[in-house]
Amino acid sequence: MVGERFRSQLTEKSRENNSKLILALDVAEGDVEKEGIDKKYLNILAKAKDSIAAVKIGYPLVLETNLEILTRAKKRGKVPVIADFKIADIPYTNRQITRSAYRAGADGVIAHAFVGQDSLEAVVQATREEGGRGVIVLPAMSHEGGKMFIQPVSNKMLELAKKVKATGIIGPATRPEDVENLRTKAGKDLLIFTPGIGAQGAMPGDAIRCGADYEIVGRAIYTSENPKKEAEKIRKKINKRTENLSR
Ligand code: C5P
Repeated sequence: MVGERFRSQLTEKSRENNSKLILALDVAEGDVEKEGIDKKYLNILAKAKDSIAAVKIGYPLVLETNLEILTRAKKRGKVPVIADFKIADIPYTNRQITRSAYRAGADGVIAHAFVGQDSLEAVVQATREEGGRGVIVLPAMSHEGGKMFIQPVSNKMLELAKKVKATGIIGPATRPEDVENLRTKAGKDLLIFTPGIGAQGAMPGDAIRCGADYEIVGRAIYTSENPKKEAEKIRKKINKRTENLSR
């Protein structure tokens, strides 16, 4: 399995901050093309950093700033950085994207499985060459449209994630029964990361109660008046609702 170091970084930070929460740092609609967007979002990260286990940064913030935001986030937040580029191309291109993300400081990347085994293997191979970083595969998506093409082949994509020895998968917190199914089929080794809390409707703690390891929250934190308070509130709520779980 790839990503041993990534796994330990996550576990360590999760213990240190007593948190299963991952902050998704995207961009609020009104902030697009605004000056100082990098500083604004890095400040949000700095405020939330003691309540989270990692930060996930994707296209919205990278495209509004530049790739260096990954390195800056790592320095500022002192938490593992996940590059959510939903990598989905031919093997050659997948390899380049993965390398660029790592060069910019990512500790893990998120890649699509629907592009097939060779494409996903290219991401895993590029990851192996970087030693210790993590690959998170998407066999499901949390939005309504995720049911259309992705959900029907979700189990097959999960099998592929296992076959290529990925570090983890993404599950939809918005559909707890799908998270349960993913956990049953994934076994204990794959980490499960679940977005869909807050803005997309799921409650903090729902997904972990169904077998997930981490919950990803974006808008509920970065669009709130007080991101520090909100992140802390969600962290506590997750812990409270999952304190009696055996796993
Ligand atoms: O703002 P919100 O909490 O809904 O953010 C969820 C984050 O998780 C976004 O960055 C979104 O791109 C991401 N994501 C998701 N569903 C997936 C994979 C990633 O919502 N299946």
